[in-house]
Amino acid sequence: MTIGVVGAGQLGRMLALAGYPLGLDFLFLDRSAATPAGQIAPILCGEFTDRRLLAQLATRSEVMTFDWENVSVEALRSLPRRKRIAPPIAALAAAQDRVHEKRLFERLAIPTTRWHAVGSGAELSRALDRVGLPGVLKTRRLGYDGKGQAIVASRTAAARAFAALGAAPLIYEELVPFEREVSIIGARSTRGEIAVYPLNDNVHAGGILRLTRAPCVRPRLERLAALYLKRVLTHFRYAGILTIEFFVHRDRLIANEMAPRVHNSGHWTIEGAVTSQFENHLRAILGLPLGATRPLGHCAMLNLIGRMPARAPLLAHRGLHLHDYGKEARPGRKLGHLTLIERSARARDLQARRLLGELAPEIRIP
Ligand code: AMP
Repeated sequence: MTIGVVGAGQLGRMLALAGYPLGLDFLFLDRSAATPAGQIAPILCGEFTDRRLLAQLATRSEVMTFDWENVSVEALRSLPRRKRIAPPIAALAAAQDRVHEKRLFERLAIPTTRWHAVGSGAELSRALDRVGLPGVLKTRRLGYDGKGQAIVASRTAAARAFAALGAAPLIYEELVPFEREVSIIGARSTRGEIAVYPLNDNVHAGGILRLTRAPCVRPRLERLAALYLKRVLTHFRYAGILTIEFFVHRDRLIANEMAPRVHNSGHWTIEGAVTSQFENHLRAILGLPLGATRPLGHCAMLNLIGRMPARAPLLAHRGLHLHDYGKEARPGRKLGHLTLIERSARARDLQARRLLGELAPEIRIP
């Protein structure tokens, strides 16, 4: 049985690596074969908007899914075998546009930041009046890893950011002075079964995820995050893995954004949970029973960004798991990750601090 995947990045690669033991085959679509998933599975090379290639991918696979959500919704809607697409196109469409995403959160009574859509200089001025300063100006579409956004503390800085972000439609939102960032990841299967992973505690720098620790033992926040996640899963009659990222401010959750796919903050589940997020995504979209999401210890996942460290010294850390995505090094690029699993949160944090000291001393963990 073949799974068609749009996007052949590291998420697609880890999806295939989780699917091979289940007896699944994979076919990817991406602009280049020199991609992380292209190294381990066949690939159709071309643009994500190429309707002919998308149709070919749909025809040659049982289910079509995504490692990258910014795919043309129009192109997907024109495909002949629409029911075979998971997650649902409506969920992709909501996640592609930050304004649609905010409206969805509001409709489902999920607390989110104060925000205002900005399409012109006059709207920017209204947004600053309504939301206040400081804030973040972001492109509505195609932003990821902190790209396409600017923190602004004055009206002059806002005007400068508006000019720099160009003609693209924008959103302005309050800057949340958060205590921490967390994410919740869960799966809903085509049969309606839902399974949620423990809460993740995430540390970002420059808009990029650097470190995840899980489980983040905050039972009240975890219950609330799971409740919000289930609302979105049920709303879309979702199939697959869904992630929501939150700010924690004064012990309250404020939704930042959602991702209709497996997520970087869930990479620890490969070795650290009974069933990984990748395997559960496949089970969910195929209508198979979902696997247990229970953690196997106290986990930390550290992203390797911009430069791959030497392999041998890393592997000398007992129990450390190395994932090298096979990508060319480039500043700010996610090239791999490390996962460690310890018996206690204290031991995990000690090890994580040691690793960060060696690899990313600029990152401080609370
Ligand atoms: P995003 O692409 O929206 O997930 O933003 C990337 C990161 O930038 C977030 O994980 C936060 O660390 C930071 N960030 C984005 N929006 C806000 C906000 N409204 N308030 C505070 N920090 C933010």
